[in-house]
Amino acid sequence: MFSYDFSQGNKDMRDLLGGKGANLAEMTNLGLPVPPGFTITTKACQVYLETGKEPPGLTDEVTAHLATIERARGKTLGDPADPLLVSVRSGAKFSMPGMMDTVLNIGLTDDSVHGLAAQANDERFAWDSYRRLLQMFGKTVLGIDGERFESALEDAKQARNAEHDVDLDAEDLRDLVAAYKRIVQEETGKEFPQDPREQLDAAIRAVFESWNAPRAVTYRRQERIPGDLGTAVNVVAMVFGNLGAGSGTGVAFTRDPASGARGIYGDYLSNAQGEDVVAGIRNTVPLTELARLDQTSYHQLLDIMATLEGHYRDLCDIEFTIERGKLWMLQTRVGKRTAAAAFRIATQLVDEGLIDEDEALRRVDGHQLAQLMFPRFDDRGRRRRISRGMNASPGAAVGRAVFDNATAVEWARSGESVILVRRETNPDDLEGMIAARGILTSRGGKTSHAAVVARGMGKTCVCGAEELDVDTVGRRFTGPGGVEVHEGDVISIDGTSGEVFLGEVPVVDSPVVRYFEGDLDPRAADADELVRAVDRIMRLADARRRLDVRANADSPADATRARSMGAHGIGLCRTEHMFLGERRTHVERLILAEGDEEREKALAALLPPQRDDFIGIFAAMDGMPVTVRLLDPPLHEFLPDLTELSVRVAVARERGEVDPDDVRLLRAVRRLHEENPMLGLRGVRLGLLVPGLFTMQVRAIAEAAVARIEAGGDPRVEVMIPLVGAVQELELIRDEARAAIDDVQERAGVALSIPVGTMIELPRAALTAGRIARAAEFFSFGTNDLTQTAWGFSRDDVEGAFFSAYLEKGIFGVSPFESLDAEGVGRLVRIACEEGRAARPDLKVGVCGEHGGDPASVHFFHEVGLDYVSCSPFRVPVARVEAGRAAVLASADAGDESR
Ligand code: ADP
Ligand code: MG
Ligand code: MG
Repeated sequence: MFSYDFSQGNKDMRDLLGGKGANLAEMTNLGLPVPPGFTITTKACQVYLETGKEPPGLTDEVTAHLATIERARGKTLGDPADPLLVSVRSGAKFSMPGMMDTVLNIGLTDDSVHGLAAQANDERFAWDSYRRLLQMFGKTVLGIDGERFESALEDAKQARNAEHDVDLDAEDLRDLVAAYKRIVQEETGKEFPQDPREQLDAAIRAVFESWNAPRAVTYRRQERIPGDLGTAVNVVAMVFGNLGAGSGTGVAFTRDPASGARGIYGDYLSNAQGEDVVAGIRNTVPLTELARLDQTSYHQLLDIMATLEGHYRDLCDIEFTIERGKLWMLQTRVGKRTAAAAFRIATQLVDEGLIDEDEALRRVDGHQLAQLMFPRFDDRGRRRRISRGMNASPGAAVGRAVFDNATAVEWARSGESVILVRRETNPDDLEGMIAARGILTSRGGKTSHAAVVARGMGKTCVCGAEELDVDTVGRRFTGPGGVEVHEGDVISIDGTSGEVFLGEVPVVDSPVVRYFEGDLDPRAADADELVRAVDRIMRLADARRRLDVRANADSPADATRARSMGAHGIGLCRTEHMFLGERRTHVERLILAEGDEEREKALAALLPPQRDDFIGIFAAMDGMPVTVRLLDPPLHEFLPDLTELSVRVAVARERGEVDPDDVRLLRAVRRLHEENPMLGLRGVRLGLLVPGLFTMQVRAIAEAAVARIEAGGDPRVEVMIPLVGAVQELELIRDEARAAIDDVQERAGVALSIPVGTMIELPRAALTAGRIARAAEFFSFGTNDLTQTAWGFSRDDVEGAFFSAYLEKGIFGVSPFESLDAEGVGRLVRIACEEGRAARPDLKVGVCGEHGGDPASVHFFHEVGLDYVSCSPFRVPVARVEAGRAAVLASADAGDESR
């Protein structure tokens, strides 16, 4: 069986019937007024695409279904006196761009148009329906450029001096039909098919074929939707909203998709068909107006909306048509919503008893929470919107428009906020992008260079604002209505909504962040409903999650912030900043040291300030674990730049006033220079090659712990060795660290318990994790380096250079630095986790790369069974929510299996 009557399907059959078909069936079985129809399955589409033919028997099945519809409607397809008309609508499991547009009014011919006119007693309506069929069929089934029909329609309106299509009368429309038929003849060399069944079969085939339309193929590749699912086809008896003023068509939402507030939301357009209501061809009226126009239908619609909400237990969006006072439902689905609405609706539905708390948690996600945490433009501020592009990277940025890199860099250096405006960006724009507050482009989608790089940098970006005409040579852009923005003019861009505004729009802090920071009390009587909803969801997530959430924090201020965001400890405390500033001179002396004595002096100078740093951090995280990573970056990062220093020495030589220290330094810089620093002398390798360096750090840590204990604190310190590839490396450093801790312990007479563990960030470490675990008390995955080394990508080089091309070609659906590559890098994580725990059952395992704050990655880490994730303080709430969701989603899946 390759087709189902609407009465035979249900909403859980999306695989076979597509989303639209499954929901039409569901509504039919709920007893709602859906026009009769049937769905041809995705399986039929698969067969067609494999064999180039309709599957055997499909033609007869269609005939049988048509007969059922004909009986129900009391009309026959092709009857010149009273024709049945149908629509043919594509509908895959996932809605995607590029699939065939719906064709309405199939079944109309030169003969039956008269029958339709007579039956409806409305000439104009019949010709209007026919010209729509010709236009839609011509464009989508026959592949004729839609412009040709549009311009013929424009000509007709102009000839009549008509503003809108409704101002054309029957005669005009009849002429338009003749013009359209000529276009079809010219473009295809054939007449428009006068056999209704031929029209229907051609439209069905065209839907099948649209599965492989280039846009759909690209979209699926990027979204990781399998290419062989196929689309379903829905054939639905026509109902007519274009039968005069008592008819119309509309869209409705059961709640406000922007705020989540309950109420009546939607638009209605009378005397209109199909997409007219959203196409903006005439002004629609708010749905509440329908109460005045057609009270009975209005109340029936409200009843149906309540039924659908109760049934789907969620916000639904709806398409309906009223034909001479009779209401028909044409589509429903669980509706899209803003992030704020998602949180509010989820908690409202719990209060209304429609869903339980776990379900509420499943209904929101970390991406939405992250959106709510960005600063945003003040709704109350005056704003003048110029355009809207894609919301490529969230945030709100205000600055002066600049059109080239040099200006961006120069102005930013002098303290200006700038927005870099380009047609599109390329790797040469990197510097400008770094300097800018935000990036605006007129071309390209969410995988364009600008979008990918901006997301990687966490910078606000709006891309593909196609209405803007960017003139980089003239240093200006123009927008709709002749708006002009010149270099230096202030603009505001909203990377969360994609909007572009003229002038400065005031920015306000997110109330959600203020709540996390303790500035807003969710239980106050006047608390914002969104803040209350977020608070409830956070509590739920915390109660359900199994993963601990820590933060990456390097200073007491970060640690405090992390705690307020709900972090239970620090998963990664980097120590490189402890070698900067005034301490650089000691680092230089350490590197230049010619004997043990000199080196030890330099190290001794570095120890006390580092100890103080640690005391501050341990105090801020009192009672919670703090994992300190020993020095990781290559030493030359702490030395002057090679070129600058070379020039300095050369100039000094000319003048004959050479500083011998500079000459020694230059030699050291040359010696330490590396072609691939990412793969050079860094991490554990430093500890092995610079005697005393790691001992000094460990001493500083242990002494800080002693100081905290003596002050009555509760430091819980862990020492972490980076970039280990072989257990031998770790053993040597671990012994050194243990000795240092023992020594501090003994001298102070205070017992210290400081586990020593390692990062797993090289494939070799992951693959020999069983051995490494014997020398490590904990593992922490450094997924950034692990991704770099597993793929052989140098992130700083490749992300800006060619990741957008990789995304466009569908090599990966999302950057592996944004979301963990579960298949490859994830496999290494899994192996290391399993083999590490097999060797040491109580091994604590976490992750400290930014992936720890990425929703999909958090689910992966939950599933692999890690103990905790750690991410930047700002991402901590996202990780908490997703860890909670991972737990309830896993239990829902388990429930499904047992059923
Ligand atoms: P999309 O997938 O773009 O939403 P639809 O298949 O829903 O496309 O159809 C496009 C428009 O045509 C919608 O407004 C829909 O309500 C309308 N439409 C579809 N089928 C019929 C029908 N049988 N009678 C009247 N209007 C219809
Ligand atoms: Mg629709
Ligand atoms: Mg690393």
